[in-house]
Amino acid sequence: MDLGIAGRTAIVCGASRGLGRGCAMALAREGVRVVIAARGAAELEATAEAIRRDTGAEVLAVPADVTTEAGRAALLAAAPAPDILITNAGGPPPGEFTQYTLDDWRAALEANMLAPIALIGATIQGMMSRGFGRIINITSYAVRMPIASLELSNGARAGLTGAVSALARRAAPFNVTINNLLPGPFDTDRIRANWARAAEVSGRSLEEVARDAVRAIPARRLGTPEEFGAACAFLCSVHAGFITAQNILLDGGAYPGTM
Ligand code: NAD
Repeated sequence: MDLGIAGRTAIVCGASRGLGRGCAMALAREGVRVVIAARGAAELEATAEAIRRDTGAEVLAVPADVTTEAGRAALLAAAPAPDILITNAGGPPPGEFTQYTLDDWRAALEANMLAPIALIGATIQGMMSRGFGRIINITSYAVRMPIASLELSNGARAGLTGAVSALARRAAPFNVTINNLLPGPFDTDRIRANWARAAEVSGRSLEEVARDAVRAIPARRLGTPEEFGAACAFLCSVHAGFITAQNILLDGGAYPGTM
């Protein structure tokens, strides 16, 4: 299927590895010019080169911490009028509610709620005036099903979800969509770090923790960044203009509810 977005420009945050990289690669494969951001310049440039090599697309690497105003300004200077915006940053650290300080909460809100809100605020008017826009927030299945060890994530991502819900309806008449993609367990550095901590806390081996985690997924495997990227690219396509304000789980059937 031709997704109809060749020649468009996308900002993809948190794209040096993992799910953000999967999204950037999938969009580039569709002929989208991708502007990718992450904090570490060397890894980001290596990813940019890999995407260029695999897809032939134009890729611009902008080293930037998207949780800072300076980082976002650098990114927007490189791509002032994006057609597609994928918001993403590292998830907050695991822990326990009573141990978190207010500064821990502030950091989680900056990364997983306020940074996306700021980027959306800076780009959505332009998308609406040009009559095309696709915004995807990479959030978490924590929005649907609280994760006991990731309360910072549960809170910050639910905040973002609520914050964009009415805006998505307001943008809809202008062919601008906003959707949230909710990853379940995906094979990235992030999930391995979470497993390592779970092993440390429980005294079990990393292998045991990993085996049990995968067994709990009906698909009996982790998702891949390629699968995540493909779903993202479809939602950014011309065919997905009627899909907006949705929270879409990609979790191999892990969410236990009927709906
Ligand atoms: P990851 O740690 O593998 O990759 C995160 C990417 O974001 C990296 O490129 C990193 O350099 C970049 N990044 C981190 N902080 C940044 C910042 N402040 N500014 C710019 N770039 C930054 O993570 P992932 O597994 O790809 O997950 C992406 C998001 O999805 C995270 O928020 C994560 O918590 C969430 N999530 C992941 C899973 C999973 O199973 N992998 C499940 C639920 C939610």
